[in-house]
Amino acid sequence: MHLILLGPPGAGKGTQGALLTERYGIVRISTGDLLREAVREGTPLGRDAKRFMDAGELVPDDVILGLVRDVMSRVDSGVVFDGFPRTIAQAVGLERLLADLGRPLHAVILIEVDDEELVRRLAGRRVCAECGVTYNVHFQPPRAPGACDECGGTLVVRPDDSEDTVRRRLSVYREQTAPLIGHYRAGPVPVHVVDGDRPMDAVAADLAELLDALRA
Ligand code: AMP
Repeated sequence: MHLILLGPPGAGKGTQGALLTERYGIVRISTGDLLREAVREGTPLGRDAKRFMDAGELVPDDVILGLVRDVMSRVDSGVVFDGFPRTIAQAVGLERLLADLGRPLHAVILIEVDDEELVRRLAGRRVCAECGVTYNVHFQPPRAPGACDECGGTLVVRPDDSEDTVRRRLSVYREQTAPLIGHYRAGPVPVHVVDGDRPMDAVAADLAELLDALRA
């Protein structure tokens, strides 16, 4: 099964995508995670991508499509795409890639959340510098402030989670990514809308129901 999780930054795509991989044995491909890994490793691609990421702008389409093509060549199970595609050009590139690989796209799932709630979520987000587990100071705090429950690592604010950059990322989403909703609605793949303005478990339950129906 191949799915796209679409929605603004902070909608919970990463969290929900991770739950789907556990429950359904599909692989989550997050272009944001792939880019952060490249930045951490200091590869040339990571160094180029970092200035776009820190400014809240999108990394160029050809870089992103190259990354996804590379990962997809190594994955033969189902995939949930998280944070990709983010532009019409990426969506067209993904359609070509899936056609080349003979793999269909089954559904697009749009997680919708109100803008002010997104700012609150992203500005409150803390990430473990060691293992990458995500917390939120407002509604999912760690047991000890500033330390990861899983590994004891230090919790940090992602450089692109400062309030100004968050607002820039949201306007980039509205301008460049939201047009994908119309793009997919005009095509053959079903678009399912999930209300992401609810607790994580409620959103996860809706997604599980949806995936069970898609698999049936
Ligand atoms: P994310 O963790 O998905 O919010 O991504 C963090 C940042 O990585 C974004 O703000 C972009 O700068 C970059 N990025 C991630 N995925 C993409 C993509 N599909 N296209 C362009 N830039 C991306």
